[in-house]
Amino acid sequence: MKDESFSKMLLLQEQEGEVVKRERYLERVSQRLKELDASINKLLEEQAVIIAELNQLIDQIREEELRVRSCKEYLRKWEERAKVVKKAEEYKALLRERAKNEDCIIKGEQKLRELKEAKSKLEASLQDREKRQKLRRLEEEKYELLKEKEEVERELSFQRDKLESLKREVSDRVCQDYERLKKEVGFPPFVSVDAMGTCGNCGTKLPSSLYSKLVKGESVRCPSCGKVLYQ
Ligand SMILES: [Zn+2]
Repeated sequence: MKDESFSKMLLLQEQEGEVVKRERYLERVSQRLKELDASINKLLEEQAVIIAELNQLIDQIREEELRVRSCKEYLRKWEERAKVVKKAEEYKALLRERAKNEDCIIKGEQKLRELKEAKSKLEASLQDREKRQKLRRLEEEKYELLKEKEEVERELSFQRDKLESLKREVSDRVCQDYERLKKEVGFPPFVSVDAMGTCGNCGTKLPSSLYSKLVKGESVRCPSCGKVLYQ
């Protein structure tokens, strides 16, 4: 294997390594971007829910304020009404009506206090510093990753072109042999053996008979993973 075609195949493998490295990196980036989008959307949805609840509370407060105001209005005019009443029955009815409106004011004001308190709590959670910072951090990370992704995609296309031109430079036979080996044992088909005689892919220690063949420059495959070995 230590002939010219071997060194050409090794060149192909090195160049393909540059491609594969970037492809794998881009896969990880895409995965991370998906996670980021999910987290960002979750935070934004939480915010949207709070805003909807807040709007509902604002409507309720407005309604309650109107109700209390009309009860107060009634009480302001009560004296005038009482003056023109002639019958005792009517007067009693007016008294009942007054009590009802006084009750409406007391209960209404209590309810308004509760509603306003709930509103302040929601406003505070909308302004929650930690959540806002988290959202900003996620958005910044996404922005940086997108920039990086664009750059690596450019590099990837450059490295792919380089691989294609390298393939055109070497003979078809070398290319075919390389592709066949790759199909057989996966990428990378060639792995180095360290000084202890251990396969760089799977860590199997070569039997001394194989190792001495390798040292002599013969073609040796790892008995475990099948990769083509070189020193
Ligand atoms: Zn191996």
